[in-house]
Amino acid sequence: MTIKPILALAVVASVALAAGCGAPAPKLPADMIYTGGDIITVNDAQPAVEAVAVKDGKILAVGARSQIEGAYKGPATTVVDLAGKTLLPGFLHPHSHYINSLTVANQVNVFAPPAGPGKDVPAIVAELKKFRDARKIPEGELIMAYGYDETSMPGGRTLGRDDLDKDFPNNPVMAGHTSLHGAVLNSAALKKYGITAATKTPPGGVIVRKKGSNEPDGLVMETAWLPIFGSLPKPTPEQEVEWSKAGQLLYAAAGITTAQEGATHGPDVALLQRAAGGGANLIDVIAFPFIVDLDAILKDNPPSSFGQYKNGLKLGGVKITLDGSPQGSTAFFTAPYLVDGPNGQKNWRGELPFPEDTVKAWFKRVYDLGLPLNVHGNGDAAIDVLLRAHEYAAAGSLDKDRRTTIIHSQFVRLNQLDTYVTYKFIPSFFTEHTFYFGETHMRQRGKEQAYFMSPMRTAIGKGLHPTNHTDFNVSPIDQLFVVWTAVNRVSRTGEVIGPDERVTPLEALKAITINAAYQYSEEKTKGSIEVGKLADLVILDRNPLKVPPMEIKDIKVVETIKVGKTIYKAK
Ligand SMILES: [Zn+2]
Repeated sequence: MTIKPILALAVVASVALAAGCGAPAPKLPADMIYTGGDIITVNDAQPAVEAVAVKDGKILAVGARSQIEGAYKGPATTVVDLAGKTLLPGFLHPHSHYINSLTVANQVNVFAPPAGPGKDVPAIVAELKKFRDARKIPEGELIMAYGYDETSMPGGRTLGRDDLDKDFPNNPVMAGHTSLHGAVLNSAALKKYGITAATKTPPGGVIVRKKGSNEPDGLVMETAWLPIFGSLPKPTPEQEVEWSKAGQLLYAAAGITTAQEGATHGPDVALLQRAAGGGANLIDVIAFPFIVDLDAILKDNPPSSFGQYKNGLKLGGVKITLDGSPQGSTAFFTAPYLVDGPNGQKNWRGELPFPEDTVKAWFKRVYDLGLPLNVHGNGDAAIDVLLRAHEYAAAGSLDKDRRTTIIHSQFVRLNQLDTYVTYKFIPSFFTEHTFYFGETHMRQRGKEQAYFMSPMRTAIGKGLHPTNHTDFNVSPIDQLFVVWTAVNRVSRTGEVIGPDERVTPLEALKAITINAAYQYSEEKTKGSIEVGKLADLVILDRNPLKVPPMEIKDIKVVETIKVGKTIYKAK
């Protein structure tokens, strides 16, 4: 986004003084003044204000209504009456897979309720058929779904290739796993991607086999899924801008003004740049190139080009993924799961898909380039590995301010959080797991660990500044639901998963505003309603600090504003 430079603050101050002395018209009129409702600045130094003045896409002034209107209301100023609604800084999304938003519009939602209609196997098959018939998809064409979660299938009756083959004998069908680390393939899809009884399961991969045979059953995950993922269809050049806008509207409708693309492959970096160049970016997008593609990406994007926006797109740093997902039993732990592994393994602790020496070399490469690092670590053993990799790569400057962010930190141990403090790490939690996978984690990891998952209260108590994410499209984009889970930690069955780790609504909001801005080194321009920052704003129908905590998830986004312009308005 291009923004006209704001006038010097000294001018602002002198106008304010002049207005206080009864000057007839402001020398510096605002474009907009927002007032008439609650305003949550997320600025501890000035939490309670009545009005916000915006000029040239930036926040010109905040304060009492009489003072702001007196000093900044000119003939051309639009006064926006909030009419009792609540104004906040626009939300920043600390970890999602933005690129998937481009294709989600052309896929079938099979999330389990309440996120989708996929309550059991017949419901998922019915949704796929509905989609095929409505779109008149011809035979042979690939049909994709997202949000499949075997752990929420009633009675443990999971989806397999046979369930899909009956109705889809001639279309490859893939029901993407909610972890984004795999999918259930029907026979046509298994054939298309060359997975047969003779296919060996690669190290760090999962190919679920039919009972008593070597025939694939349908679910393919982790390293076995990566080659399939890499060859999925992409939008044509004509579709890129249109699909990008549609994807960004999903974010804007959730009040998000800065999105993350959390593990970007080489061709997708080019796609994001083409789309942004074509005017697609309604919001800011921050991409973290995936480590295995880094060398290829650096050819066109030298390290010096990272950290700067161009057409609303910035390369934020580098993403390294260590382990899988705890709900899929592929996260890497020091103690075994209470259930067998995904391939039936006993005493299963998960595993690292890559040797530790490789991880150490990756860390060193990224740190030597001076780029910020986002590391996916779920299980405590994976987090041990990343701490050792940091110690290897950052030797001599372990506590340098690098904004190294540990994505998920889902099952971080208490003593590891102390090390986070020492190394200035930022935990980006995923408290929605308490709702979506609360029961699964209780069953697979036990109560003590489940209660301490995404330990936001403890992290804040230690002085850390955690962020909180949806990992879209692991779960839908819904920032109020993120806040609700951090505040309540209520599971699907109504159990509070870790009451001691609940945080206040304001702390939960900070995790998706000012703390997220800090994670991206954008705390000077985003994350709070403060003079000089971008006018990235969101209007909610109710105040999350005032409603009963269990109602936070029902709060609606009314309007989303990016650099002073409305980009989304609820109908
Ligand atoms: Zn992710």
